[in-house]
Amino acid sequence: MVAGVDVPVARGRCRFCAVTVGTGDSCCFCCRTVAAGLGRPLVPVTAAAFFRAGDGVHRMLRRYKDAPVADVRSYYAERAARRLATLAGAEGRIRPRQGRPAWDVVVTVPSTRPHARCAVDALVDRVPALAAERSSLLERGPGRLDHLVASPDGFRAVAAAGRWRGERVLVVDDVYTTGARAQSAAAALRAAGLVPVGIAVVGHLIGPTGAHRTGVRAA
Ligand SMILES: [Zn+2]
Repeated sequence: MVAGVDVPVARGRCRFCAVTVGTGDSCCFCCRTVAAGLGRPLVPVTAAAFFRAGDGVHRMLRRYKDAPVADVRSYYAERAARRLATLAGAEGRIRPRQGRPAWDVVVTVPSTRPHARCAVDALVDRVPALAAERSSLLERGPGRLDHLVASPDGFRAVAAAGRWRGERVLVVDDVYTTGARAQSAAAALRAAGLVPVGIAVVGHLIGPTGAHRTGVRAA
């Protein structure tokens, strides 16, 4: 459903990322850990698809970035962009139904690999409903970011973000694993005065056993 606003919380689902959680839990282990790292509640995330390592969505999300042949990268980028477009556009799953867009600006999560091109920008730019509002407002900050390690200063807003103070921002990424990167990005935008209304991702990775991601606490 909708990122950020009017999100019905289904029973048995994490209230932030919608993975299955155990009876009595409202939040999965990953979200709980990332929220603790950031010191605040998380921004709701909406995925076009849940996927597992090695499945078709996983192959698509790897090959659009890493395939050695440009035509292959382009083919998978188009498929990934269609997933994102479905989430963002015609069906109104992120766009609200009463005219006003749910966000004022779209910001992608920068790559944490040095010198890496931000591949998700190319996906967003293929989706008219998102591309028109995309603005590059984040850069890598000094804080540590890693699997399950979120940091309020893992990213920081660039000076140009000042003009968006008080405006609603949709954070977009290709893959969501634990949420450490995307939620840190949202936290940095909030610190700069923007209002994160949601995180939209193409794919949300579900672990092979699902143990830590489904809220079943490991021993
Ligand atoms: Zn969660």
